[in-house]
Amino acid sequence: MSLHQQLIDRDRKVTFHASTHLRDFAHGDAPGRVITGGQGITIVDKDGREFIDGFAGLYCVNIGYGRSEVAEAIYEQAMKLSYYHTYVGHANEPQIELSEKILELAGPGMSKVYYGMSGSDANETQLKIVRYYNNVLGRPQKKKVISRMRGYHGSGIASGSLTGLKAFHDHFDLPIETIRHTEAPYYYHRAAEQQGMTEREFSQYCAAKLEEMILAEGPETVAAFIGEPVLGTGGIVPPPEGYWQAIQAVLAKYDVLLIADEVVCGFGRIGADFGSHHYGIEPDLITVAKGLTSAYQPLSGVIVGDRVWQVLEQGTGEFGPIGHGWTYSGHALGCAAGLANLAIIEREGLTQNAAETGAYLQHQMQAAFGDHPIVGNVRGVGLLAALEFSADPARREHFDPALKVGPRIAAAALDENLIARAMPQGDILGFAPPLTISRAEVDEVVA
Ligand code: PLP
Repeated sequence: MSLHQQLIDRDRKVTFHASTHLRDFAHGDAPGRVITGGQGITIVDKDGREFIDGFAGLYCVNIGYGRSEVAEAIYEQAMKLSYYHTYVGHANEPQIELSEKILELAGPGMSKVYYGMSGSDANETQLKIVRYYNNVLGRPQKKKVISRMRGYHGSGIASGSLTGLKAFHDHFDLPIETIRHTEAPYYYHRAAEQQGMTEREFSQYCAAKLEEMILAEGPETVAAFIGEPVLGTGGIVPPPEGYWQAIQAVLAKYDVLLIADEVVCGFGRIGADFGSHHYGIEPDLITVAKGLTSAYQPLSGVIVGDRVWQVLEQGTGEFGPIGHGWTYSGHALGCAAGLANLAIIEREGLTQNAAETGAYLQHQMQAAFGDHPIVGNVRGVGLLAALEFSADPARREHFDPALKVGPRIAAAALDENLIARAMPQGDILGFAPPLTISRAEVDEVVA
């Protein structure tokens, strides 16, 4: 038996894997793979087989694999100070510097950064901030948060509730009571069902649905709205024209805070520092993770805007120190990795590359698959792209889910040593390669 197979068999006995058929994996009826190395956009498994990583891990290894500069920054910081907590005003140098850098990139109106380890825990922090905010303002009934169907915001009790995908709710008794889901800006399917609206009409329709929900719940009970600038895990769906403007007008009307979940879009993925900049979103709060460190260390952040910050300050003036904190918040090694990562993104112009090589990727995808008999929709922005398969593209008909078309095409790509992600809902194949990808590498992916 190969060394690789021996490792997989050991793993089956001891590890509980995410998003995995637990029984099939434990009993050897589902495949495993041990990844041992990575360089650039390529990873290698224990057998020495190489794959182009067309999804940058889980759209997070934005600077690519094997960047010694980041490894050295982590090492040097570990030798100097591996960790000290950031409670009651304690700080470390990389954390201060990283906060300054994040706020500089986020632009005007953003005030402070709170750190976590994952996108999920950052969104838990967001929900606590939103509750605290309205308690300070004497509006204890204003607590509901509206997310979107197909949104993805994490896997915790509250962050998993924000997520608008059935598989993340079923059998976990989610969503929790204070969370609602409104229409997804999924133009390709939903507008077709609405008698062929234009993109702008569909954006207005989504905003009207949101307003309807706020009014039905009672505006005095709705605290916040959360959304990814581009729906990610729910199918890689860029918003239809005018969507964010229409949504923001409704939120402003009812004094509802806007949380931009930039876990995927943040730090260059769609060709701007933040997805919010690309779409003209003016959030009160921003969630970041993934691209903040390109996953060289786990690190997330909540960026708090001035308007919310003023109220938090007022609150602790009345109530005393804020009762929220993680042991690893502002972890020195995570922040050192983040700084080195952002320095690479800046120096190598990777955000610009995401815009330019991203446009090339979108163009080549469209040229190769736009007229394919089982491709219904080719879409994306920057280095985020998707192919949606359809049994009858002219009628936008889904395949029977039992056929598992998406996973089978992902498996076929894997046979060609290309990793593309079968997105969890619908027959959608996602692409989000490292931001370092070249045109020649795009050609290889598309081929
Ligand atoms: N928010 C968005 C937009 C995400 O895509 C993800 C993960 O994919 C999360 C939050 C959760 O992040 P994590 O898996 O680090 O908890």
